[in-house]
Amino acid sequence: MHVLLVEDDPLIAQGVLTGLQLQGFTVDHVAHAAAAEQALQLGHFAALILDLGLPDEDGLQLLKRIRSQGKNLPVLILSARDSVMQRVDGLQAGADDYLLKPFDLRELAARLHSLLRRSSGRSTHLIEHHGLTFNPSTREVTLHGQAVSLSRREQALLGALLQNPRHILSVEQLQDSLYGLGDGVESNAINVHIYNLRRKLGSEVVKTVRGLGYQMGVPDELA
Ligand code: CA
Repeated sequence: MHVLLVEDDPLIAQGVLTGLQLQGFTVDHVAHAAAAEQALQLGHFAALILDLGLPDEDGLQLLKRIRSQGKNLPVLILSARDSVMQRVDGLQAGADDYLLKPFDLRELAARLHSLLRRSSGRSTHLIEHHGLTFNPSTREVTLHGQAVSLSRREQALLGALLQNPRHILSVEQLQDSLYGLGDGVESNAINVHIYNLRRKLGSEVVKTVRGLGYQMGVPDELA
């Protein structure tokens, strides 16, 4: 899951970056509101983590502008502003959640997962699909009750497809959810991961939709 972190404090940013990467998130980081706006034009992000005290603009202004442009990605504010009114302002500006600094990285990750779960319309944490289960927090995968070992990229790819099994995702969208903006991506990287998913979970587990991209299919009957 690809998230954008907007935070000008280098220590906090580094901590969040490292922590979320360990939890399987793909994270891009910017320190200015202007850079955040640019990144949002360039990439598809599953969520935005937003500091409010930014050097070039107040994060709330940025948030209001993003919402007025019709961007509806989940936004979690990360701020030291701790009064009730400030939190209410944040939520009214269009934030989905508000976490006070200092915070625990595990709580941040848990809140992100729950935002992503809600934005995809799921009510339970575990994603189940024709005998396949995927846990977005631990990234564990089982097929008919048996654990399946997947690489980090394979987990991310499966997670992206399972977020919305009926959606067709283009190669570009899949790349966006797996790689950061600065990552060099081999042109056939997605094909290789899909090949591996099919090898491990069954040839029909990912459907190729000609000219459009890929969609979740049905895994093998037997693990
Ligand atoms: Ca700040």
